[in-house]
Order: sequence, then structure tokens, then C-alpha cells
Amino acid sequence: MDYRKVVHENYMQLFFVFFVFLFMVLFNCLFTGARVKQYLTMSADEMLTTTEEKIMSKFRESRVSLVNASILVCNRLEAGYGPEEIEDYLAALSAGLRDNPEFLSGFRDLTGVINGQFINGSRWRPPEDFVVQERPWYTAARSVPGEFVFTIPYSYAHAGGLVISVSVVLLGGGGEDYGVLSLDMEMDDLAHDIASLKLARGGYGVLLSPDMSIIAHKDGSKIGRRMVDLGPEYEAFGSRIQSAVGSASDSISLESKLDGNNVRINFFRKMSNGWYVGIVIPRSSYYRDIYTMALILSLMGIVMMIVLSSFLIRLSMEKIRSDDENRAKTSFLARVSHEIRTPMNAILGMSEIIMRQNVSSEVYGFISIIRQSGNNLLSIINDILDFSKIESGKVEIESKPYNLSFLINDVVNVIRMRLQGKPIDFFVTLDSAIPAELVGDEVRIRQILINLLNNAVKYTRNGSVALDVSMERLSPDMADEFSAGKARTVRLVMQVKDTGLGIRKEDIEKLFHDFTRVDLNANQGIEGSGLGLAITRSICRAMKGDITVDSVYGHGSVFTAWIIQAFGGERKIALVENAETKRVLLFEERPAYAESFLRAMDNIGVAVTCAENIDAFIGELGRPQASGPQTRGPQASGLFEYAFVSSRYAADCIPVWKKSGFAVRLIIMLELGDESSRRGTGTVHLPVYSSVLANILNGVVSEGMAVHHESRIRFTAPKARLLVVDDIATNLRVAVELMRPYNMTIDTCLSGAEAVELVRSNHYDLVFMDHMMSEMDGIAATQTIRSIDTGNAYYSRLPVIMLTANAVSGQRELFLRNGINDFLAKPIEIQQLNDILEKWIPREKQNRSAGSSGGSSGNKSTECVPTQPPPEALPPIAGVDTQTGLNNSGGSLNSYKQILSLFCTDADERIPRIRIAMEEGNFKQYTILVHALKGACRIIGAEAAGGLAARLEEAGRDENRTLIDGETGLFLAQIEALTRQIGPLLEG
Ligand code: ADP
Repeated sequence: MDYRKVVHENYMQLFFVFFVFLFMVLFNCLFTGARVKQYLTMSADEMLTTTEEKIMSKFRESRVSLVNASILVCNRLEAGYGPEEIEDYLAALSAGLRDNPEFLSGFRDLTGVINGQFINGSRWRPPEDFVVQERPWYTAARSVPGEFVFTIPYSYAHAGGLVISVSVVLLGGGGEDYGVLSLDMEMDDLAHDIASLKLARGGYGVLLSPDMSIIAHKDGSKIGRRMVDLGPEYEAFGSRIQSAVGSASDSISLESKLDGNNVRINFFRKMSNGWYVGIVIPRSSYYRDIYTMALILSLMGIVMMIVLSSFLIRLSMEKIRSDDENRAKTSFLARVSHEIRTPMNAILGMSEIIMRQNVSSEVYGFISIIRQSGNNLLSIINDILDFSKIESGKVEIESKPYNLSFLINDVVNVIRMRLQGKPIDFFVTLDSAIPAELVGDEVRIRQILINLLNNAVKYTRNGSVALDVSMERLSPDMADEFSAGKARTVRLVMQVKDTGLGIRKEDIEKLFHDFTRVDLNANQGIEGSGLGLAITRSICRAMKGDITVDSVYGHGSVFTAWIIQAFGGERKIALVENAETKRVLLFEERPAYAESFLRAMDNIGVAVTCAENIDAFIGELGRPQASGPQTRGPQASGLFEYAFVSSRYAADCIPVWKKSGFAVRLIIMLELGDESSRRGTGTVHLPVYSSVLANILNGVVSEGMAVHHESRIRFTAPKARLLVVDDIATNLRVAVELMRPYNMTIDTCLSGAEAVELVRSNHYDLVFMDHMMSEMDGIAATQTIRSIDTGNAYYSRLPVIMLTANAVSGQRELFLRNGINDFLAKPIEIQQLNDILEKWIPREKQNRSAGSSGGSSGNKSTECVPTQPPPEALPPIAGVDTQTGLNNSGGSLNSYKQILSLFCTDADERIPRIRIAMEEGNFKQYTILVHALKGACRIIGAEAAGGLAARLEEAGRDENRTLIDGETGLFLAQIEALTRQIGPLLEG
């Protein structure tokens, strides 16, 4: 791994870490430095206070001793004692004080002049030149008679050394002046103590007298000397001390540089007796602690910075490595998908082409299997691709309008097939209040429902599976939160309940992890990749929802998924016109089905009467009808418009119903897996739910029976010219064959460069360009085309559709950015191909055929190449153009057969009702019924009957009795002839 790259990618973070630590270190140094300084100042102050206290207590003790001595001496003098006796007394007192230093430490002597005679406690006699009146103790006492006065330290006459004396003039009771008494104290010890004071493991103490004489100092030569005598530097510094200390109560600090030495920091304070006590420290030792602290902190900061930076770099390297792996995985998946999809394109495309040829029904069946298996394989590939997209956080959610009812029908049909032959009941509840048009990603919602229902089917052996789709309208503030201002928003809740194996509590947490399958013993033999729920949860979350599960092991599970969807309008998904007037009869002996039916009817506001047993039901069917169902009021009990019964009773009911004259609309409820139709009756597949029932009650064909239009060719375009570019010849063949029915002129070429030349020399309406081609790929070729002649609109507007087997997300944006108009995924799906052609072939070149979505004319286009059925599969039907019918059925014979069967059912039911309406002169009813048959005729390809129906419909609308009376018989005869032909054909 390249370190420089990692550092380069993370330099901002590394800078950030560096600055944070730098700031931390600086801040700490400043803060701690200030604290250390504060601490040292406090220590100095405390030390000076203690020293002052010590000096002053020495002074106090000596003063007290002199006071006592002077009183006793005065008493003796007044009692007539002479100087010798007084000296004796002083000698005894001095001896006592010397022997007991704890009373007065540092005591030196007692000296005095009594009545003019020198006396001394040590009986010392002064030399000749000794002038007592000049001694400091004598002059000090005489300067303030009667007061106890301290001298400044002076050199002791009798034994040397530094002393300080406290002295007093002895006054008698009558004011007599007896002389002076002095107590001498040694200063050497005290001076030594002070000089050895230390702060921050350095420095020394200083004691100065009020006249700035040095009393204590580490340099003995300076003791006893006045600062003025030590030179101008000292004199100036002395003045600075005097002025700075002034009246300050605490110590002050001063910097000094004396004798050319290093800078020193001085702390001084003035004592109560006017002396100055101080501590002097070289600046280097004063700041030593601060420097040490800063050094330690900086080192710590640097170490932490290095540790954190290397941690960051390691993390980043891990991330880069895993990003690289992810990229490799995604590109591997893209490559694999491409590799698999390319041959799949050939397999699916060619099978589609073979199915359009004149092949035997056996071959047709084989090819259908190949196509189905191919589709299954594709869905597995899609699942893996989906998973890789989700893993890389690239789930793309579309936002397009869709109809939830169609979606549910589709899902229900798929699940119903899977339930075939299993002893499992299937129930669906669809809240009719859900808006009909929701806006979101239909494909992803389908994926959620299919995943959950598939699991329910897979993991349930017997019992039931129930789907419940409901919604909750979000208030505007909640809607804002979820849909960024789209006020019309619902929370769509999809719940799938089963009575299956259930999930252990401890496994529930694991369910949504990738590739996780739980309870493998119980689930033995059940296929699965363990990806379904992980994908489902990611999709739900991408739609601002989530999924939860509730399960009792051994009894079943409930999966509840919810998502947020915007909606288009207020129209509801299931609404019955005049619901309160509808009268519905039901016989259903299975309570769960009956309950599901009643719940659905209740949801759409229709009351239902339940027959107690089949006889009662049949009794109702056979009741003679007084008038048509539309004219009866709801109060007419026992008379029903609709009667629903399970297919197992169809055989019992239909004869009675036919006999009764079809007044009641009999709807047979087909069981799961029962795909047969019932002649004459209406049918509906179980499970029934609100939208299906609403369609029946509104007289609309159930959407569940809607025809699948997958391979319907919508137009031909003989004047259109296309270019298809692919470097694989098989793919070209598939594309050309798939587009053959459109009758277009199709050119092909095998490279991007050739494509550019062909586009230059011909005029195309559309180009299908393969994405990945050797040498010049699809994107480069398109860019070259776009840049040929920027002034010519042909090159800039020519629609280019990318054919891509590379379905990894993010491609769409890439294509659009590079001048590609649209893309078509390989394997090509017919429906998507049709959509693309319809969208991009110029409208004026599209010829629409009969029954196509775009055109309504009855002329069958001879240019349209219809899908060919296997010839032996469907014999001709008189009056019916089966090719048109097949075309309209999406090209699938099965679909066509189903539609033919539906046609018979509809016709059988409508013929008697048309007759009744005609006889009653109920033109409205007549017109509705004939209109429905007109549509049905055209879809199956019975053009002549359809034309007659159109005439009769118009006559009904105009209330043209003559035309109705004259032609209805003929019309009904044509229809009956058709059903007569079709019936045996289907049974065969
Ligand atoms: P798959 O079904 O492909 O194994 P899923 O992700 O869909 O993967 O489910 C993960 C696991 O959750 C399944 O293997 C199964 O053990 C458990 N599971 C899912 N749905 C159900 C259910 N309805 N009932 C019981 N177990 C279930």
C-alpha cells in the first residue's frame, strides 16, 4: 500500500490532529506555567511570612526579657542597691538565660550603665578607648528615653560577631535617670537561617534593615554593609525595593541583575518593624519547573499525535483496501452479469423467435420450458446484483405513478400458482381506502411482497398465509419529514401472516443479516440463499420504512413491512357505485373464507346475506324473479343481484340458476389452482379482496383476469430505418429477429467505427448501440457521432439506445451524460423493446394495427406481422380472425384461449340479459350490455360481430327501436354461433 497516497488522501485529517495537539500543548504550557508561577509566588509569600514571624518572635522574646530585667533592676536601685550588686544580679540572670536557651534563643549578654558605671552580665570590662556613650545600644536608648528600642545589627565589641540589642533608659519612680540597660542577641544563627532559604530548589534569603544594611545574605562579605556602600547598582536596587514594597501587604516580585550575574527573581516584603525580608532565585531555576512541565507535556502531545496519526493512517489504509475490494467485487459482478446476460440474451431471444415459428406444440412446450428456466436464472442473477447494489449502498428507488390494485393482483396470481397443491389457505385483505394511484417504485414493492409471501409459502406446511395491505395517512408535518414537502403521503403497511414453522426468539435478530438462514434442521430441503430478507429490509429502509417480525416458534410468523408513498389523487383503490343498494348473497361453508369475504365486502360498504346452507342458497337462486335486478329495492328481502358460491357447488347451482332466467348474477369462486372457467357464470379466483369485488359489483372485468400484453406488437414501421450495432453476431441476429414483426429496414454492423461510418452515409431513425465492444465501445462511438457536425441536427438528435448487459446501478446517469438517449437491458424483453420502439420511432412512421393500444380503427393492418401460433394448436373459427385475436392476446396461445373462454362466459351471461332489456325497452341497460360485447368481439378478432355490435350500441344510445328490433336477433345469433364454435375448441 502506498503510504504517500494514504497521507495525501488524509492530509486534512492529519493537519487537524497536528493542530489540535499543538493547541493542546500550548494551552497546557501556558496554563500550567501560570499555575506554577502562582504556586511559587504563594510559596515565596508564605516563606517570607514564616521568616518574618520567626524574626519578630525573637525580637518579642528579647524585649519581654529586657522588660522584666529593667523592672527588677529599677526596684533594686530604688531599694538602694549599688552598681556592683546590680551587676551581680545581671550576671546571675545572664547565666540563667544562657543555661535555658529555650526561654530566649540566641541570648548573648546583659550590659548597662548604672549611675555612670559600666556593668556587664559576663563581668567584662571595656578597654580604655571604649566610649559607652557611642555604643549603638546606648545611643538608641537615649534617642527615645523610656522606650524599649532595637538597634540595627552591629559588631559586638567584647566577643565579635553580629548582634542586635534592645535597650532602655532606666527611670526611677520619681523620674530619676539611673542609666541604660541593654540585652544583646546574637544574629549569626538567624542570618544563617535566612540566608539558606530556598524556593524552587534554588536561591537564598536576604534580610535588610530599614537603612538598607544587609543583615542576612548568602555572601558573608556583604553582611553588615549598607547597599549604598556596595555600589550604584545595589543602591538603585535598594531604592527599587523600598519604593516597590511601599505599603504592600503581600510580597512583591522584582527582577534584578547585580554583579553581572544572571537575572534573578526577588520576592521581598516589609516586616512590621520596618525591616525587609526577601528571597532571591536565579531566573533559570525559578522557571525550571515550568520548562520541565512544558517539555513533558510537549513530549506527551507528540507521542499521542504520532499514535493517533498512525491509527488514522491504518484505518484509512483498511478503508482504501476494503473500498478497493468492494470496487473489485462490484466490477466482478458487473463483468459476470455481462458475461451471463450476453448468452442469456441469445437463449431467451432465440426461444422467443422459435416460439413465433411454425413449430409443433411439443417443441413449443419445450421451448417454453427453456424460456421459463432462462427467466428463473435471470431472476437469480438479478438477486445477486441487487444484493451487491444494496451492499454498496446503491439501491435506486424510482418515483413513478402506479396502481397498487394491479400490483396486488399480479403478486396474488404469482403466489396462487406457488400454493397449488399445498394444503394452505390464502387470504388477502386490501384496504379500499388506499388511494388508487400511488407514486413510488412499483418493482421494488412487488419485490418486498413476493419475498415475504414466498417465504410464508416456503416455510408453511399447512394452515394459512394471509396478506393484509393497509395504510395510514400522514399528517402534513409527518409527511414533510418523510417526503420533503409532498403533503400527500401515506404509510403503506404490508403484513404477511403465516401458520408455518415460526422462528425462535434468539434467531429473530439474525434474520435480516446477509446470507443468513436459521433453523436449518427444520428448514431442511427448503431452498434459499438467505438474501431475501436482507434485501427486503434494505428496500423498506430506502423507502423510509422498515420491517419487523413477530413469531411464535412452531405456530407461525407475522412480518410487517411499511414504507412511505406519495399519492396522486383522492380516488380510492376500491369504490362501489351505489354500494348501499347492492344486494349480495354468499354461501361459503369455510368460516375463514366467509370471514375474509365479509371483511372485504364490509370494507367497500356492501351488505352481504349469508345462506345457511347450500339448499338455502340454491333456493334463492331458483326464486322466480318478478322484475330485472336493477329495478328492485334493497328492502325486497330474498332477492339478490349477486350470488357468490364456491366452485365445488357450481354443478348444483348452475342448472337451477339457468332455469330461473339468470336474473341473479352468479359468481363462482374458483379454488386455488383451479384455472377452469364456467360457461355462463361469472368467476372470480380466491382469494377475493376489496378491489376484485368492487370490479365485479361495478360490472368491470376483474383485473385479476386482465390479459397479459407482454409480447404484443403495437405497430409496424416500414418507412423507419434502424441501425443495430453489436460485436457479437448472435446478438445482432436476436435483435433483428425480435424486431422483424415491425417491418422496419434494419442495418447491422459489428463495430463502433463501422457504426459511425454508416450513420454518416445513411439517414437512420434510431440506432441500437451495444455498450461493451472491443476497440471503440458504444459510448465512444456515440460521442463520435455527436461530434461529427455540430451544426447538423441529425447527428445531435439521432436517438441512440444503448444495448447493455451491464445492469449495475449508476449506468443510466453515465449513458445520459454521454449523449445516449435511452437504454435497453439485455436479454431484451419484448415489452421493453416495444416501449422503446414506440417511444423513439417517429410517430409519423408508426402504422398502428387493429386492436393495438394506439389505434381503434377496425381495419386490420396487413403490414403487421402477427405472432404465429403453432398451426395445429388452434383450428380456424368462422367469423374470427384468430391472428388478430392472438395478436391482441400478446401473442400467447394460452392467453388467447383464456380470452376466448372469458368471451363465452360473458356472452352466455349477457345474451339473456340483452333480450330482457330489449323487451323491457331498458335502452340504458341494453347499451351497456351490447357495448361490453362489442369490446369482447374485437379482442378475440370477431370483427364482423364487433361491427354489428357497434351499430346496435349507437342505436341503443339513440333509442332507435326499429334498428334494435331488426338487428338484435341477428347479432345474438352471431354471438351464439361463435360460442358454439369456441366451446368444444377449448374443451379439446
Ligand atoms: P431464504 O428464505 O432465501 O433462506 P430469507 O432472507 O428470505 O432467505 O430468510 C432468512 C431465513 O429466515 C430463512 O432461511 C428462514 O430460516 C427464516 N424465515 C424467513 N421467513 C420465514 C417464515 N415466514 N417462517 C419461518 N422462517 C422464516
